[in-house]
Amino acid sequence: MSPTDPLPTDSSAPLLTVRGLRKSFGNNEVLKSIDLTVDRGRVLALIGPSGSGKTTVLRCLNGLELADGGTIDVGGELSLDFTTAPARSRLAALRDRSAMVFQHYNLFPHKTVLENVIEGPVIVQRRPVAEVTTEALALLDRVGLTEKRDSYPHELSGGQQQRVGIVRALALKPQLLLFDEPTSALDPELVGDVLRLIKELAHEGWTMVIVTHELEFAREVAHRVAFVDGGRIVEHGDPKTLLRDPQHERTKQFLHRLLHPF
Ligand code: ADP
Ligand code: MG
Repeated sequence: MSPTDPLPTDSSAPLLTVRGLRKSFGNNEVLKSIDLTVDRGRVLALIGPSGSGKTTVLRCLNGLELADGGTIDVGGELSLDFTTAPARSRLAALRDRSAMVFQHYNLFPHKTVLENVIEGPVIVQRRPVAEVTTEALALLDRVGLTEKRDSYPHELSGGQQQRVGIVRALALKPQLLLFDEPTSALDPELVGDVLRLIKELAHEGWTMVIVTHELEFAREVAHRVAFVDGGRIVEHGDPKTLLRDPQHERTKQFLHRLLHPF
């Protein structure tokens, strides 16, 4: 398969289809042409070196960055073509389809845990406070953070903050969850709790794109893995095969460096 082939789909319908996605910052062409497909209920892991464009892919999918070209299709019912700037309402619709979990949690420091979780559903989605609060408390209970509902982010460990970050994303009831290196800022002993939670979500059938350097996690949880380098998907495939037997020299080098850092 050539690296420019779209990701193959199985029999289920794709939830996300990206074609020829491009993004430049000034004259720095960060995404040259990104093609990917994620089927409903499936997990795609994105791996690749620092600066290769992984975060920018997620930010374009979430409408935090405006792509310069290409198309994004979500759920077969929302299709955006970035050849010309999309209407605000369509960008808002794109934002509403996905929720992002950030590397550095990005919680509002001056809001409590509960306020952080209900902010998006109440302010952006304009849903009733009482209903959203009930759902938020159930989600916090699920991740063992009920007692922290009135705490501020700085009073929590990194692992707790990231679990709040995940709860905040779930509270938006998105079709697609986007994770940007969700454990890379955590102390090693806190990584497991967060990865276990993400694995549970995968088993529940959430559709996810996860940027991660946790290869063992990608092997176990992802249905597909794509290697990003220089703003392109160089290689993609079944995680067990790709991580054991990469085909491209750059993928081999990257995996070798990750497995033998010194
Ligand atoms: P990765 O997540 O793979 O490390 P990024 O998507 O964060 O890569 O960044 C890819 C490139 O885009 C880098 O060269 C980075 O400096 C540049 N870049 C990312 N965001 C911006 C921005 N908002 N403005 C200017 N350059 C940016
Ligand atoms: Mg990044």
